[in-house]
Amino acid sequence: MTLSQRLVNWARLKSPWITIFNSGACNACDIEAIAALTPRFDVERFGILAKGSPRHADILVVTGPVTRKQALRLRNVYEQMPDPKYVIATGACGASGGVFKGLYHVVDSVDEVVPVDMFIAGCPPRPDEIIDGVVKCLALLKEDLAHGGKEWRRKARAPPAEAKPAEVTA
Ligand code: SF4
Repeated sequence: MTLSQRLVNWARLKSPWITIFNSGACNACDIEAIAALTPRFDVERFGILAKGSPRHADILVVTGPVTRKQALRLRNVYEQMPDPKYVIATGACGASGGVFKGLYHVVDSVDEVVPVDMFIAGCPPRPDEIIDGVVKCLALLKEDLAHGGKEWRRKARAPPAEAKPAEVTA
């Protein structure tokens, strides 16, 4: 690994930049996510910085279920982020559609549109839980950097190849 890559990785770990995307939330999750960025919770102690552009963000915080109208936009925002990128889905809606599940205009879980690395439970989750999710994402990032990327995680999750049936001998 070159010196510049090591410097970039160090900076990523010390100061994650996040961007927030409302994919169809009732706004309560957004209010909690915004509250998490206020001085009361002092996220600067973790180097967390809110960014308006996904092109500058390491972590995407998605609030709410995904409406059909927002699905393509969410995908576009995700694709604009530089690798390695992480997605946090907040609340019951982010995980399963929550109270909006089954509605004609809702795709349900965020995971159906972009790969989610972290789900935060609650309706809505508290600001300190959202901050905890971002900090836990940093642990994932550290692990992934040690393995040379996120690919190893997908392989580790893959089910083992089916064992061959034992040969029957007469
Ligand atoms: S999880 Fe609760 S607070 Fe968050 S968007 Fe859904 S209904 Fe609203």
